[in-house]
Amino acid sequence: MSDARLADDAAAGVALLAARVRAARSVVVLTGAGISVPSGIPDFRTPRTGLWANVDPMEVAHVDAWRSDPARFWAFYGHRFQSLRDKRPNRAHELLVELERRGLVDAVVTQNIDRLHGPHGELIELHGSIASSSCQECGAAYPLEEVQARLDQDPQGVPRCDCGRPLKPDVVLFGEFLPQAALERAQALAVRADLLLCVGSSLEVWPVGELPALTLRAGGEVAIVTQGPTRYDDEAVAKLDGDVVEELEALLRAL
Ligand SMILES: [Zn+2]
Repeated sequence: MSDARLADDAAAGVALLAARVRAARSVVVLTGAGISVPSGIPDFRTPRTGLWANVDPMEVAHVDAWRSDPARFWAFYGHRFQSLRDKRPNRAHELLVELERRGLVDAVVTQNIDRLHGPHGELIELHGSIASSSCQECGAAYPLEEVQARLDQDPQGVPRCDCGRPLKPDVVLFGEFLPQAALERAQALAVRADLLLCVGSSLEVWPVGELPALTLRAGGEVAIVTQGPTRYDDEAVAKLDGDVVEELEALLRAL
């Protein structure tokens, strides 16, 4: 295909998506790791480097690791906190806020834990967020900065509750269930949506991968702004394959 033809196709895709967004009464946005890549947060499938390059997160970021060896768990997770702490929302996050400000988006559902979304009227963080850590014994919760301070002060590098127990980040670790209320709310939003706009997600991981099926089964439409193939590409009313920021900028201009 010629470059001109590709550009025409891309413009047609944006125009089509803009029309579907305008026509929908309820647009729900679903985001994955791809929206945070422009903030400097690599997709977890990107090969890791440095100290933890050869560590399997499935093992070291597992809830069993937190229980059995909190010092090792926090050595890994503290590193993760450190790498996410100073990241800022990028233009794609801002454009979703702008869509909502224009009354075009009802809610945002994300599998990201990086707290870069918003402010949104309704934000469902399916995998939790690094914004806080809490005590599984007494329920006390501590904000990220406080957790970091406690981690730095503890001789073993384990942030502890006032009651002495190791804190657990309020993210869904491997081996843990998703928060039921968030999951049910995301499913209800997907069923209700006239348009589920999937941004930066390969739609492979459960439950995010099932949400488009719920929308389609209930008679809604699915649109995809994600680089690389997804298993919903054939059923999507529009599939935009370019850079996430450029595609969302183009969508906003077309609305
Ligand atoms: Zn406690």
